[in-house]
Amino acid sequence: MADTLKAVKGMNDLLPPNSARWLWFEQHVAALMRRYGYQNIRTPIVEPTALFVRGLGEVTDIVEKEMYSFQDRMNGDELTLRPEGTAGVVRAVVEHSLLYEGPKRLYYVGPMFRHERPQKGRYRQFHQVGVEAMGYAGPDVDAEVILMAGSLWRDLGLTDVRLELNSLGQPEERRAHRDALVAYLEAHADQLDEDARRRLHSNPLRILDTKNPAMQSLVEGAPKLMDYLGEASLAHFNAVRAVLDAVGQPYTINPRLVRGMDYYNLTVFEWVTDRLGSQGTVCGGGRYDGLIEQMGGKPAPAVGWGLGVERVLALLEESGVAVPAVAPDAYVVLPDANALPQATVVAEALRAAGVAVLLHAAGKDGLGSMKSQFKKADASGARYALVFGEQELAQGMVALKPLRGQGEQALRPLADAAGWAGELLPA
Ligand code: ATP
Ligand code: MG
Repeated sequence: MADTLKAVKGMNDLLPPNSARWLWFEQHVAALMRRYGYQNIRTPIVEPTALFVRGLGEVTDIVEKEMYSFQDRMNGDELTLRPEGTAGVVRAVVEHSLLYEGPKRLYYVGPMFRHERPQKGRYRQFHQVGVEAMGYAGPDVDAEVILMAGSLWRDLGLTDVRLELNSLGQPEERRAHRDALVAYLEAHADQLDEDARRRLHSNPLRILDTKNPAMQSLVEGAPKLMDYLGEASLAHFNAVRAVLDAVGQPYTINPRLVRGMDYYNLTVFEWVTDRLGSQGTVCGGGRYDGLIEQMGGKPAPAVGWGLGVERVLALLEESGVAVPAVAPDAYVVLPDANALPQATVVAEALRAAGVAVLLHAAGKDGLGSMKSQFKKADASGARYALVFGEQELAQGMVALKPLRGQGEQALRPLADAAGWAGELLPA
């Protein structure tokens, strides 16, 4: 036997029946975006490495150690498998002057790649849904994107996701805070871990985001950015809060919420759950008013979020949310292979009328006995079996047999499948 090949570590196959949960989830996402007026955008999975270095910031977890970067062997280009969605969307929006005719509400769904240590809720290929509202400056749209995520949890039947909110203010406010923060951290230099010591002068704000338990009390006592915000930043933050309050969306203010990328300003937020251990952030985002200009576009404000699909699906499972099973409406049972052409004609007519029909097809040992076909019909979850027996066919009929205790077997005319297709559809 030939050697078998395995998937790359941390990159998962999505197999049936579980893949049906993904489809179900993606349908909810598409419906959500339609309701809020967000249009789909699809950008390449591979981008120039410089895009992420410039967009995300050099001293970030992603750029420092998580990117799948490589050189194109054909031409020497430096390329990277996208680790997140925003930078690529911004590139596309700038490249195609998409904001020329006005602001845009966009969303994407797709795989992202980060070289992390694989564990539950943390993979090397994972999937995100993201929204980006570009060209909008006001707190109304911050609240809108936050509420969209809240609406998705409700649609999915999730209750254990809570909202955390913070404001990062503007760059000059962050600079004043940064000086105070660095002075504080320097005074406690003996308590800093290696990561923190490295970031002390390059990106001290990110130290507040540490997951090291030994540093928690240190960061809790650190100067709070909120205390350095000016009037306009505070007004923006309060306006976001006012909308959330008006619609009754609860939240907590987490002054240590800083997010992983450098591009954020003003509002930042995360949707978190306690049910997934330390991988509890299911969705995170915020405002990034400087990024579009930084990527070479005309200055335009923007706000968005990214959601981890694997984590949402894990949470659905953990919360016991039942995802509707996908079963055919009818299963075609073939006592004899000669019935196949007629059975296919009927199956096609039913499918054209919207009925899900699974045709029993021969395996390597042929069609199999009636008993084994009925067993398969039952296991498929179909509500009806359509039996194309010789006697029924001779009368121009097919036998319609309920499989889930809904009444007696009956005959239906072969020639008029469209006329009785409705009977097979779910109530
Ligand atoms: P974390 O703090 O858990 O590493 P992050 O801040 O790196 O998350 P973001 O860059 O904000 O995450 O990405 C948005 C969402 O994508 C996260 O909230 C999470 O749900 C999901 N996510 C991020 N990295 C992974 C991963 N390696 N595997 C699975 N999901 C991920
Ligand atoms: Mg991360």
